[in-house]
Amino acid sequence: MRYVNGRLFTCDDGQPWAQALVVEGDRIGYVGSTAGAREYAPAAAEVDLGGATVLPGFVDGHAHLLMTGEAQLRAHLTDAGDLGEIQRRLRAWAKENPDAPRVLGRGWLYDAVPDGTPSRHMLDDVAPDRPVYLDANDYHSAWVNTAALAELGITSATPDPVGGRIARDPLTGEPTGHLIETAALEIVWPFLDSVRSDTDADRALAAAVDAFLTAGVTGAVDMALDEAGLAAMVRAGDLGLRVAAHWLIQRGGDALAQVRRAAELAAEHRSPWLRVTGVKFIVDGVIDGCTASMTAPYADGSNADPIWDLDALAPAVAAADAAGLQVALHAIGDQAVRIALDALEYAAGVNGPKPRRHRIEHLEYVDEADVPRLAELGVTASMQPVHADPAIRPNWAAMLGDARAERGFAWPEMTRAGARLAFGTDAPTAPHAALPNMFIAGTRRSALSPDLPALQPHLALPVAQAIIHGTADSAWACRAEAHQGRLRAGLLADFVVLDRDPFADPNTLLRTTVTSTVVGGRTPRG
Ligand SMILES: [Zn+2]
Repeated sequence: MRYVNGRLFTCDDGQPWAQALVVEGDRIGYVGSTAGAREYAPAAAEVDLGGATVLPGFVDGHAHLLMTGEAQLRAHLTDAGDLGEIQRRLRAWAKENPDAPRVLGRGWLYDAVPDGTPSRHMLDDVAPDRPVYLDANDYHSAWVNTAALAELGITSATPDPVGGRIARDPLTGEPTGHLIETAALEIVWPFLDSVRSDTDADRALAAAVDAFLTAGVTGAVDMALDEAGLAAMVRAGDLGLRVAAHWLIQRGGDALAQVRRAAELAAEHRSPWLRVTGVKFIVDGVIDGCTASMTAPYADGSNADPIWDLDALAPAVAAADAAGLQVALHAIGDQAVRIALDALEYAAGVNGPKPRRHRIEHLEYVDEADVPRLAELGVTASMQPVHADPAIRPNWAAMLGDARAERGFAWPEMTRAGARLAFGTDAPTAPHAALPNMFIAGTRRSALSPDLPALQPHLALPVAQAIIHGTADSAWACRAEAHQGRLRAGLLADFVVLDRDPFADPNTLLRTTVTSTVVGGRTPRG
C-alpha cells in the first residue's frame, strides 16, 4: 500500500518531513516524496492523503490498560460536585446493573466529599445489600461502605499495611471506609482482582484497546502489570495495541522474589504485542492527598514518609538492574525523586557499567539540584502533561502552599539538562487521548476547561517537540525504537492520520481529531 500527497511528520532527525510512505507487510518500506513512493512501489495500491497530516502512532509512555477499560465501565464520579450527586449516580448505576454483585465507581474528588473526609456511612444507603467500592480520581485511595469492609475482613484489629493507612474513627477506632495508599493498592485491588471473572477482565481490556486505537495510540507502556492483567493479555493474544509492561513490585511482599518473577516473565513474553520489559516501584503517593514525599512540608505542616525508603528500595532495584530489567520508579515529590535517583545510582555502582534504560515516573516536583542527575544516570523522565491540566491544579498548588507550584511539571528543565523526556497519560488517572495531552504540553492550557488561563506558559513546548516526546521518545523509553515511534523504512507501519495540521498553532491540538489509525499496516480504526 502506498500513501501519497500527505504532510508526514516523521519524528526522524534525518528527514523530519515527508510526503509519502509505502507499507510492505507490517513494516514501512519507504518514506519520502510522492514521486519516490510511486517509483519505489509502482504496482502498489495507492491512498491519496489529500494533504492530510500524518504522525507516527502515539506510544503512551505510562498507562494502566485493564484499569482504563474498567474505568469506562464503572460509575463516573469525577464531575460529581457534592455528596448528593455522588450518591445519586451510584444509585443510578446500581439500578442499571442489577446483577452486579458490587457497586463500582471511580474518579471521586476530595473537594466533593464533606470536609474532604469520606465515610462508609455515606455509602451505606446507596445500595444497602451490596458492597460499594469507589476509587479516588488519583487511584491512591479507595472509599468503601460497611459491607465492603466486611467482605475485605477489615476491622478495628487490622493493622495498617506498610506504606498505607486504614482511616479510623478517633473515638471508637473503627475503620471509617477510607483506605489510603497501600491499603487500597494491596488490600482492595487484589481482592477485586480475585473476584473479577475472566469475562469481565477480557471485556475491560478490549474496551481499553478500542479507546486507545480510536485516540491514535498504537502502543502503550502498561505501568503496573499483575497476574490478572497478564492473564487477560495472554488470553487476548493479538492485542491490536503494542504493549510493553512493567511488573508491579508490591511493597508488602518479598521484593527479590517478585523481581525474579518479573525476570521470568520478561524472558517469556517478547511478542510484537506484549513484552514484559521491567519492574515498577511506587516510591511515594500524590501531592493532592499529601502522600507524595517532599523535602519540605506541605502547607498544613504535614509530610509523608516514602512508601519505599532507600534501604528497602536499593537492593531490589539493584537486583532488577542485574537481571537486565528496566526499572520504573513512581516518584512525585522531590524527596521520593531523590530516593529513586539514589537507588539507581546504587544499582549502577554495584552492578558496574552495562546497557540500562531506567526511568522515573511523574516527577511532578523535583529539586533543582537533582535535575542534572537524571541525565548523568541516563534516567528517562516519564511525565504526563494531562496531570498539569490547569483545571486540576488549584488543589495541587494549595497542598504545596508556596512558590513550589511555579516549578511544577517542569518538562523543559529535563531536556535542557540532557535527560530523555517521554510523555504518557497515566490513564485512567487522567484522560487517555493523545492529542489533548499534546495540547496541554504545547500550551499549558486546560483540555478539561479550555476557558481557564494557561499556567506557567513559559514551560510549554513547541508542538513538534511535544509530539516527539509522545512518540519517538516514549518508544525509546520502552526499548522499542527499532520498531516504533518514527516513520522510517524498516520500522513497523504504525501511524495516524489527522483531520487538520496542528503545527502552526498549538491551540488547534484540542480540536484536532484522528481520522484513521494504522497498526502494522492494517487499519483497525478509520
Ligand atoms: Zn500510573
